[in-house]
Amino acid sequence: MKVGKIIKVSGPLVVAEGMDEANVYDVVQVSDNRLVGEIIEMRGDRASIQVYEETTGIGPGDPVYTTGEPLSVELGPGLLEAMFDGIQRPLEEFRKLSGDFLTRGTKVDNLNREKKWHFVPTAKVGDKVIGGDIIGTVQETPLILHKIMVPIGMSGEITSITEGMFTIIEDICVLDGTQKIQMLQKWPVRKGRPFKKKLNPDVPLLTGQRVIDTFFPVAKGGTAAIPGPFGSGKTVVQHQLAKWADTEIVVYVGCGERGNEMTDVLMEFPEIIDPATGESLMKRTVLIANTSNMPVAAREASIYTGITIAEYFRDMGYSVAIMADSTSRWAEALREMSGRLEEMPGDEGYPAYLASRAAAFYERAGKVICNGSDDREGAITVIGAVSPPGGDISEPVSQATLRIVKVFWGLDHALSYKRHFPAINWLNSYTLYQTKMDHWMAENIDPEFAKNRAKAMTLLQEEAQLQEIVRLVGRDSLSYEDQLKLEATKSIREDYLQQNAFHEIDTFCSLQKQNKMLKLILKFYDLGVKAIEKGVYLKSIEKMPVREKIARSKYIEEAHLEQIDEIAQQLEADMNKLIEEGGILDA
Ligand code: ADP
Repeated sequence: MKVGKIIKVSGPLVVAEGMDEANVYDVVQVSDNRLVGEIIEMRGDRASIQVYEETTGIGPGDPVYTTGEPLSVELGPGLLEAMFDGIQRPLEEFRKLSGDFLTRGTKVDNLNREKKWHFVPTAKVGDKVIGGDIIGTVQETPLILHKIMVPIGMSGEITSITEGMFTIIEDICVLDGTQKIQMLQKWPVRKGRPFKKKLNPDVPLLTGQRVIDTFFPVAKGGTAAIPGPFGSGKTVVQHQLAKWADTEIVVYVGCGERGNEMTDVLMEFPEIIDPATGESLMKRTVLIANTSNMPVAAREASIYTGITIAEYFRDMGYSVAIMADSTSRWAEALREMSGRLEEMPGDEGYPAYLASRAAAFYERAGKVICNGSDDREGAITVIGAVSPPGGDISEPVSQATLRIVKVFWGLDHALSYKRHFPAINWLNSYTLYQTKMDHWMAENIDPEFAKNRAKAMTLLQEEAQLQEIVRLVGRDSLSYEDQLKLEATKSIREDYLQQNAFHEIDTFCSLQKQNKMLKLILKFYDLGVKAIEKGVYLKSIEKMPVREKIARSKYIEEAHLEQIDEIAQQLEADMNKLIEEGGILDA
């Protein structure tokens, strides 16, 4: 370990000289308190170091110890249910050791080294294995089977492998008589874990949320962004995704501005129940939280810590969703460090590399064929929240994000004010996975799904124009057809797009149900148009009692979807009756 000397301290940034043997992204220990830091820039023998702990009391002349190792995370059983800080120190153990405020230089192992796990081999002596091959499993939580893989770069013939209770640092398997394998692995956070092949993300991540699944789906292995103006329902959307999205593992990275934001997350998440099993959602979740008393630098590292853990579970063949909330706070940390490095500021003070750094994070999403001989598939879907000041997405972080991600769910303050939830604006949201998802829907749900989806969206867009006219000259100036259109779009908005996260049934809506509901609403419109052509009064159509049933179809249980078909039949019969009677029903 070589020792350098501090020549300057500026908040979380420390400059040290005599560091000629160190490299960028090496971890160093700063001062005799051994604060954790990472080299972010080298000029000659001078290293600029971002320090992940409070630097007060540190000054020029203090030593800096090099480790020669990059900033890494520990991977193995013990990740699930855990809450870590931005550089993977376990918050619970820390609190026990140093009280609520993290004491500087406290050393805790990232993963528990005393706990014993039941390792069950799935490979046997004589098997030839390569990096990424699964050699055994640990039932880490009731929900997740942790697959133990041969570390990347190792290969050989298994000469010994044992079932039993082991800690993560005990040997469980030996290759070629000499290479020992433990459950614990390490991986540098800034380097994506390798895979065999990237696949086209062509299967939707099903969320049970109608506005997302029907209109703005994200593919498994895809990327999405969600802006979060305060009070617009961002937390509820994220919780709904964590609960209902059909992924096995959830990694939640919280970069809160204020301390209480993160405390909320730390309190709330453990209380979320996994609907499929009734267990706590934490049993398939890894939480990374930057509490407010941690310096900004840790925020910068946290998203890489999170995505590396996500990649590790992906490599087991799982589908993982990672939520970063919010990447704006991450970008602010980047800006602060860049300022202290005295780099040339770009747009609004953010460094010019903001966009490439953000891209480097989102690019680690994907559906892949994992390393190993069995060609299993894994996926990481990245959902990044941005919190533009004042909700104005023309600012640099939102813009940099939007250029990378393929889906945008535009949370809208005006909608949440009207209590339209989820407040995702259908006019400015988009998905670039539409064609592929349409294809999947046609094969798996209904060949007509894409057509219906497109039709409903066209109606909603036309509604926006019609509303403009109504505002100017009043509704009565519209043709009957257009007035009917407004009735239909009101139904799409209120009966379809609005979805109550807190209603026992409405909280989740299967694709089968979405398909039937959408068809039902469109049927009302199509039949209505025909009826008007045949001279039926608009008023009579508007007053049809069956419309109440259409509105309530969202509360029909998944097990009784045939009731939606029955409503459709009644709608058809009632409309035919109106036409036969010459349209005057209770006129
Ligand atoms: P944010 O995180 O953006 O500040 P929240 O997610 O906490 O906002 O949402 C604010 C409030 O809006 C919630 O407490 C809830 O009452 C309401 N809300 C948000 N989304 C929904 C939803 N899908 N269904 C019902 N109510 C919702």
